[in-house]
Amino acid sequence: MNPQRPPMRPNRPPMSREEYMRRQAYYRRMQQRKQMQRRIAILAVLSLFLIMTIILISVALHRAAAPTGLPTETSADTQQTAAPETTGSEPTTTVPAVSTTQQTTICIDPGHGFDDPGASSTFLGSTQEKDITLAISLKLRDELTARGYKVLMTHDTNQIPADAPAGEPYLFGVRKRAPYVNELSPDFLISIHADAFDDPSVQGARVYYHSATGKDNTVINRIAQRIVDALTLALQGAKKAPLLVEKPDDSAYYILRNVDMPAVLVEVGFVSNENDAANMLDDAWQTKVVLALADGIDQTFGTK
Ligand SMILES: [Zn+2]
Repeated sequence: MNPQRPPMRPNRPPMSREEYMRRQAYYRRMQQRKQMQRRIAILAVLSLFLIMTIILISVALHRAAAPTGLPTETSADTQQTAAPETTGSEPTTTVPAVSTTQQTTICIDPGHGFDDPGASSTFLGSTQEKDITLAISLKLRDELTARGYKVLMTHDTNQIPADAPAGEPYLFGVRKRAPYVNELSPDFLISIHADAFDDPSVQGARVYYHSATGKDNTVINRIAQRIVDALTLALQGAKKAPLLVEKPDDSAYYILRNVDMPAVLVEVGFVSNENDAANMLDDAWQTKVVLALADGIDQTFGTK
């Protein structure tokens, strides 16, 4: 919501090598994909042509060889087609790939980041939404990793790498994240945000999910409900209990509507509310929220 772009913070650690390489690889793949699709189309046409040629040749050969047919075969029907072996090309049967690991993959999306600060307020001071979402996301990453999950992140720093090529389309924009997450293909996506509202009295955490029209939304409803329940338990005594918010197609957050896996977006509170903002800046409160989110996720994806 803040159109002003703050200067980069050089004291922040640079983007992790792994994260940077993954991002670079993603864009390279995106570029290669179109080229690859064109090649596949050409190959398909050529293959079809080749198969047709082989069939025509084998039919012609069979007809030429027909008079010297084997004695075991009744000569009544010389139109009998050739046995499959004689076509020369065996049909390739593809064995479905078996996953080598049963480890559940969770993708964490720290809301905003880099040159997109997200929400800000006087209660937060110089801290911005992107700082809060990243801090909570990194804690959640560590907690889920400790619980045995494979964790992927849409980004794990807000620092643009010094060696980033000019004009590189980083995944700052929320619209660029959905296809990136689809490419990472986790079992579950959790996007962390903080809300802002004109009325400073509005407060509390909210867990959003997308209820797609014409689809069975039971699974995502259950996952989101468990996360809200875990948050409610952890934040007992909060002035406003956490809310579960179901959003239909036209009003759901872009990322929730455009990822292929179950996903929730958690607004941990309102930066525009003094109490919520103070909580967000509190390390112990952040940890409490993180443990609750991990518990909620565990209740669906955990093995215990
Ligand atoms: Zn946000």
